[in-house]
Amino acid sequence: EEARLNERTGGSGETYSRAQQVLTGGVASSYQARDPWPIYLERGAGPKVWDVDGNEMLDFHNGFGSMVQGHAHPAIGRAISERYAQGTHFAAPTEDAIIVGAELARRWGLPKWRYTNSGSEATMDAIRIARAHTGRDDVLKIFGSYHGHHDTVMVSIGVAYDAIGDRDHLQSLPYGGGIPQSTVDHVHAVHFNDAEAMERKIVALDRDGRKPACVIMEAAMMNLGVVLPQDGYLDEVREITRRHGVVLIFDEVKTGLCIAAGGATERFGVTPDLVTLAKALGGGLPTGAIGGSDEVMQCVEDGTVYQVGTYNGNPLGMAAARANLLEVMTPEAYDHLAMLNDRILAGCRSVIEEFALPGYAVGIGSKGCVTFSPVPVVDYETFKANQDAELCDLAWLFNMNRGIFMTPGREEEWTLSVTHQADHVDRYVEVFREMASDLTR
Ligand code: PMP
Repeated sequence: EEARLNERTGGSGETYSRAQQVLTGGVASSYQARDPWPIYLERGAGPKVWDVDGNEMLDFHNGFGSMVQGHAHPAIGRAISERYAQGTHFAAPTEDAIIVGAELARRWGLPKWRYTNSGSEATMDAIRIARAHTGRDDVLKIFGSYHGHHDTVMVSIGVAYDAIGDRDHLQSLPYGGGIPQSTVDHVHAVHFNDAEAMERKIVALDRDGRKPACVIMEAAMMNLGVVLPQDGYLDEVREITRRHGVVLIFDEVKTGLCIAAGGATERFGVTPDLVTLAKALGGGLPTGAIGGSDEVMQCVEDGTVYQVGTYNGNPLGMAAARANLLEVMTPEAYDHLAMLNDRILAGCRSVIEEFALPGYAVGIGSKGCVTFSPVPVVDYETFKANQDAELCDLAWLFNMNRGIFMTPGREEEWTLSVTHQADHVDRYVEVFREMASDLTR
């Protein structure tokens, strides 16, 4: 499959040689790198993308889940053109910033909002707000979770399983170079779906005089494929953080707008103190947001915390977000996504059963994946111990060679868009069936 893909993407290979002259590693972000070369894309329309070789692919990657509205959506295009004609940047707020804020407040049940330009900026600012609000420095996160590329959250993500230690004494490790040990020392981690461990950790840290300012987590993990919270887990987390006076941050950069109109917060019925959004919010433009309770956002309101950025609330991003929220991601859009996801999940499940594959299909809202593990993945530990990485790599190549553009990486899931139709998800299942059949022949 590898050789076949290289043959299909010769133009990307040539582009890579040129790109390497000017872009470090030939890419704009380390996540875009791939051996022997990245696939360079040229355009997208609705559910499809085309690479520089002219290969047409159905897009299930959707820009790491940013394009839940599909590519080049006319309503968003209209909003962007109209805004462009009236000027795109002032570093002053516009009406759209208020409209977007009001809609987010309605969807998330959190009254106060600010904007950023990415998910990383949103989690960075949210953690600073939590630190200022509590007057504490330490942060508790979930082992294996990704929250962006600033120093504090580049800790305890994808590290060698051997280095983990026992469940109650998880070592904090930086993800890559350039992260000061003094920062790492302030970050602690516990496993997902283990509320008791979270409480024990908070109590132990408190005893050491370093109670955490916040717990930052995804309500459903989206970088171990899809890992859903077990019954009652999020309620317990809410209860524990409240009892100990720890700010609860739901990082909804991936789940927000994708798994329900009001994200994981609405879907699971648990409201955090702070929520972070990005990706699907901006309709394809780099837009992020932080929402919070009046109490927690008070430190921004009174000027104790500087939540700043030249491009925060950029008019172009706000116009796109407004159209995205009000015209595209409507209740009907969520019904459509639910129908499609049910269909693709059912299709994948029937293939798994028919060919007795070691795995299962899991999903929520527009997100889902086949997890190649014989046992359910509930946290990073079970993921690392059981995921068949080879099968995962093969599935990506197999898909790419048959016109299915799937998120690269063993930890990713599909994102369906409102422009996908039943025949598109059926094609995904058909390709999966072909792979299963080849494997078991
Ligand atoms: N939080 C989560 C949960 C994410 O998945 C990501 C990106 N994958 C981020 C934060 C960071 O967002 P960005 O890449 O826009 O900085």
